[in-house]
Amino acid sequence: MKEKERIIIVGAGLAGICLAYQLSKRHVPVTIIDKGKNWSSKIAAGLITPLVFRRMTKSWMVDDVMEYLIPFYTQLEEETSSKLLIPLNIRRLFSSEQERGYWLKKQEQNEFKPYMHSINKDDETYNLAKNPYGSARVKSAYCVDVATFFKKMEAWLKSNANFLRQDFDYTKIEADNYKGITYSKIIFCEGFEVRNNPFFKELPVDPTKGQTLKVEMEGIPEHESLNRKCFILPLGKQQFRIGATYEWHNISTNTTDEAREELLRNLKYITDIEPKIITQEAGVRPTVKDRRPIMGQHKSEKKLYIFNGLGAKGYMLVPLLGKQFCDYLLNHAPLNPELNIQRFYLKQ
Ligand SMILES: Cc1cc2nc3c(=O)[nH]c(=O)nc-3n(C[C@H](O)[C@H](O)[C@H](O)COP(=O)(O)OP(=O)(O)OC[C@H]3O[C@@H](n4cnc5c(N)ncnc54)[C@H](O)[C@@H]3O)c2cc1C
Repeated sequence: MKEKERIIIVGAGLAGICLAYQLSKRHVPVTIIDKGKNWSSKIAAGLITPLVFRRMTKSWMVDDVMEYLIPFYTQLEEETSSKLLIPLNIRRLFSSEQERGYWLKKQEQNEFKPYMHSINKDDETYNLAKNPYGSARVKSAYCVDVATFFKKMEAWLKSNANFLRQDFDYTKIEADNYKGITYSKIIFCEGFEVRNNPFFKELPVDPTKGQTLKVEMEGIPEHESLNRKCFILPLGKQQFRIGATYEWHNISTNTTDEAREELLRNLKYITDIEPKIITQEAGVRPTVKDRRPIMGQHKSEKKLYIFNGLGAKGYMLVPLLGKQFCDYLLNHAPLNPELNIQRFYLKQ
């Protein structure tokens, strides 16, 4: 007889919460354990941007991801009676003639049409910010309201799963129970702190620190998010989030003067308006060396699994990847080899 699934998830960041939700919806009893110190999902801006601006390419897997994203967040919104996924107007202020050239070429291509508005006269002459090379508007961009997401989803988990606020103790894992909680699988969703996990610490998760500023500024548009060298995300009432730094191989969680100066320097590419800084925040993204998430089963401990490495795009990737991981866990659907943990074991 097939063993009844009882799953323990370690980590209630974005990855763990979304997985717990999707498993619960498939009638799997879930225990989710989190120590209450989140350094990524709660710091994130929640932006969902379908383009990579540097070379005007599509974000990895974007067509598949976008198809699943809206139904997923809509379902969460209905479940929690809240607004989580907010359509966002993103205006890219080009960095060079070359970048503008890429856009002009790609806006004509069918595969880019869902993500690019065609440049019009107003975009060329846009004057609410510095605009030396013209600008363009992104289609199908969103922002997840991160604070509401956590408030509502943590409450949802408290009602629909066994949600424990505690440090996970790896030494207490027994063959079929953890501190008396019976399990069929344990799934680790610890973000960059996977480096402390004795079973998965060898994986090439290469943390990338990120810092943002919350500021007050008068005269910057509040109906769209401007982007060049940094993003300016409107928060309402003339407050904005400016982000984000990418500090490679860095796991410290303190805010720094260097990052603040870098963000203010980058902001100057968009506007000379002086911001009043309200707060500065720092977090650490769980980035993988090959820039792909990691999911799958430990090489020898067959009840232990990992779902991690969402990098800088967790809010966009997690709905689809969470579904694919559930299909793999519960229905033995094959994992995308690009994501499968096996890619690291095969190299050993
Ligand atoms: C500054 C910044 C800006 C960002 N902006 C965006 C953005 O705009 N859009 C976007 O999509 N993504 C963004 N990201 C990236 C996004 O935050 C990540 O992709 C995603 O949140 C990672 O989620 P996670 O659940 O894997 O990890 P985490 O959020 O780090 O969650 C891991 C959880 O595991 C828990 N944990 C770890 N070890 C243990 C243990 N031993 N016992 C118990 N609990 C444990 C921690 O308490 C934590 O809550 C940003 C990140 C940063 C830092």
